[in-house]
Amino acid sequence: MTNSVTVLGLGAMGTALARAFLAAGHPTTVWNRTPGRSPELDELGVRRATTVGDAVTSSRLVVVCLLDDDSVRTTLEPIASELAGRTLVNLTNGTPLQARRTADWAAQQGAEYLDGGIMAVPAMIGGPDGFVLYSGSPVAFERYEGDLAALARPQYVGGDAGLAALNDLALLSAMYGMFAGAVHALALTSTEKIPPTKFTNELLVPWLTAMLCSLPAMADELENGAEPGSAGSNLAMQAAGFGNLIDASTDQGVDPALLLPVRALLDRAVAEGHGDRDIAAAIPLLRKG
Ligand code: NDP
Repeated sequence: MTNSVTVLGLGAMGTALARAFLAAGHPTTVWNRTPGRSPELDELGVRRATTVGDAVTSSRLVVVCLLDDDSVRTTLEPIASELAGRTLVNLTNGTPLQARRTADWAAQQGAEYLDGGIMAVPAMIGGPDGFVLYSGSPVAFERYEGDLAALARPQYVGGDAGLAALNDLALLSAMYGMFAGAVHALALTSTEKIPPTKFTNELLVPWLTAMLCSLPAMADELENGAEPGSAGSNLAMQAAGFGNLIDASTDQGVDPALLLPVRALLDRAVAEGHGDRDIAAAIPLLRKG
């Protein structure tokens, strides 16, 4: 059964969500703060609501995809009484704390709540490669999983509404770490006029791809412990070599700022007696308390 759905927000992502719902045959109502955005949706049969209240009361399933938590709050609070009996799916990027607060607020209005983390860019919505993390009401997820599959593969990560955001932000942290490393690498190679495409395609991508294979072992070491040096790359060796990354950057006229926190972490891990372990030993040091 294709349930009708409301999408609040027609930015780049909201537009992609509405398009995917329409393509999957869902009667789709949209609202956007600035009227008339994404006119291409009109020929796909979208219904445009002129008020948030009209949009929300058009469907039992209400998907919100706005800029940030503040915009969600200011948009939904004036129509809070219309939410009773509906399911609110908030795909706006936010923190676990914000998600839990919105979940409590939605429960007070009598609505089921799912928080979501979109692991895709707009062009991937409706395609096979992206996925969306959901947390919150298991009842709502079970009821609407089939409808939400129109957007991207739905993956439920738990009843605590904050867990989708936590997993989402953890994945984005890893992504930005990778981008930061790549940006630094390209700054370094550009000092010798090495063609960026050649370096990226022939060296950077194969190297990162090979290194990705070490992540499951790192997770296993974190979870189950490991013998010192069992991965063959102990931290003391890594900390000693890391100085070369900093020195070479400085020699080549590249700001080493992105690397300095990593060196500080490695040095601390060694100073605290983890020199014979692998980099997983640095993970607990990042946690306070
Ligand atoms: P856009 O900047 O393209 O669109 C922002 C949307 O939020 C617009 O609909 C805008 O309305 C609306 N908005 C902004 N402020 C307010 C407000 N105060 N009250 C009501 N509406 C407001 O962003 P995206 O669509 O790309 O992103 C939307 C969400 O999706 C974000 O949380 C983002 O982090 C997340 N996301 C985006 C991805 C991407 O690659 N684009 C990937 C994964 C997640 P108006 O048209 O009136 O300005």
